[in-house]
Parts: sequence; structure tokens; C-alpha cells
Amino acid sequence: MRVVRASHLGMCFGVRGAIAKVLRTGAREPLTVLGELVHNESVLEQLAARGIRLRHEVAEVDTPTVAITAHGASDRRRAAVHERGLRILDATCPIVRAAHRAVTALAHDGFHPVIVGTPNHVEVRGLTEDLDEFDVISTPGDVERLSPRARFGVAAQTTQPIERLWQVASLIQRRFPQSEVRVAETVCVPTRLRQEAAEALAAACDVVVVVGGAHSNNTRELCARCRRHCGRVFLVQDAGDLRPEWFEGARVAGLTAGTSTPDAVIDEVEAAMRDIAQRRVA
Ligand code: SF4
Repeated sequence: MRVVRASHLGMCFGVRGAIAKVLRTGAREPLTVLGELVHNESVLEQLAARGIRLRHEVAEVDTPTVAITAHGASDRRRAAVHERGLRILDATCPIVRAAHRAVTALAHDGFHPVIVGTPNHVEVRGLTEDLDEFDVISTPGDVERLSPRARFGVAAQTTQPIERLWQVASLIQRRFPQSEVRVAETVCVPTRLRQEAAEALAAACDVVVVVGGAHSNNTRELCARCRRHCGRVFLVQDAGDLRPEWFEGARVAGLTAGTSTPDAVIDEVEAAMRDIAQRRVA
């Protein structure tokens, strides 16, 4: 059995930057991260081992400095941090920051913001909490519940597939032909490259292993993409989750990973897959 990696996989620059910032500051002073820095257990364990705290609410923070995650935060949430006299370490990914600017511009120009994404996801909350009015759409079918507006501004959670953004925009235009529809392309390029590479990989493999957190949006999306082309797709958090029987009769096994998966975890999973392949030959 051959083991093949996707041409783009694993941790993106936004997550790497956020982790580096938090580790650097956490080594100097007590630090709390507001929400999960990334949706990956091994990264969260690494932070906890270094004494970096995780709290979900501003009111629960008991260190002078609080880190905003790569997913970003609304101005309201930042104001709540400042009101408590806390200092902000901003680890927001530059691409998420650009998405905030794009959504703000849509609202400012009189477009009703429609965000294509997962309702209540931390990034979507950050994108919408400062808006007076907005809709979040998780499936194209949700377009049916939109009320008529003169102008719709459609943007996406950064990890959404770009096709879904454009599909929703065209469905809105079809449902409201008199309305003006403007699209802000807020989908992140590293995510898109990983999704495209995962599909190409899955099309050429008998089995695909996706490494990532069970709660990671982009990891779940990678699984869904791979399942379009391959009947045997398995999500693992680490090498310990692999099962030799998954690879029964497989000639090519593919490997991809979500944007919050550390390199070391991917390497371990790859080594374990090669080990399974070796044992089958022996
Ligand atoms: S997935 Fe994209 S938007 Fe999210 S942190 Fe990574 S680079 Fe930034």
C-alpha cells in the first residue's frame, strides 16, 4: 500500500501565527485565551501544560492579559475585555480581520449582511455581533427563510467552500430578482487550497485519512469533500485512532489534515499508516 499526502494539508499560517503569539506571551506572563485557540486537542493540551488558561467568558478571566483567538472577536467583545481593565493580545488571523472589514463595509454601504457559515461558530459570532441586522445561512435551502431586502451583501465564514458562497448569492438573486446582491469573497486561500487538494487526493485513493479535531469546521469540510470521491474516509485525531482493518485491500491510502493540526501529529499518523502498510507486506 502506498501512502500519499495531499499537496496542501495541515496547519495554516493564521493558526501558526496565533499559537506562536500565545506561546511567546504565555512564557512571559500569566495569560488567558478567550475560547479555544484552535479546535485541536493536542494544541490545547500543549497550552494547558504551559499554564496558559482557557476561559469562554470575559467575566471568568483572572489574568491581566487575555488573548483573542485566530477566529477573531467583535468590537463588543473587545469592549467587554477593556471594561474589565484587561489587556488584549490580538491573535486574530489577518484573513479573518479582512473578513470583518468586508462585512463592515457591506453594512456601511447599505447592504443587508448575509453570512454563509455555521451559526454560533466563534468566527461567525465575531463577524455578526456588531451588526444591528444580519442573517446566517448554513445551507443553500436557508435562502428560503430570508425576508425581502433592497440590497443583500453576501460574505462567508472564512473556512466555507467558495462555491457555497457563490451558490447562495445566486439563489438570493434568483429569489429576489429586484434586489441588488453584492458578494464579498471572504473565503481563505489556505483553506481553499486544502479543500481542492483533498478532493484531488481522494479521487486517486482507495482510503483517505483526515487528521484533525472532531469539532473543527474545516476538518469536517475536508471529510465531506473527500467523501465525494472516495467511499472510505476516516477522521482521526491522532495515530492512536487508526485501525488496520480500514486499509484492507487498499493499494493507495491518502492523508490530509485540517488547518489546526500540528505537523508532529500529521507525521505520526503518516508513520503509523506506513507501519500498517509494512506489516501487511511482511
Ligand atoms: S483557516 Fe484561513 S482564516 Fe482561518 S486561521 Fe487559517 S489562514 Fe486564517
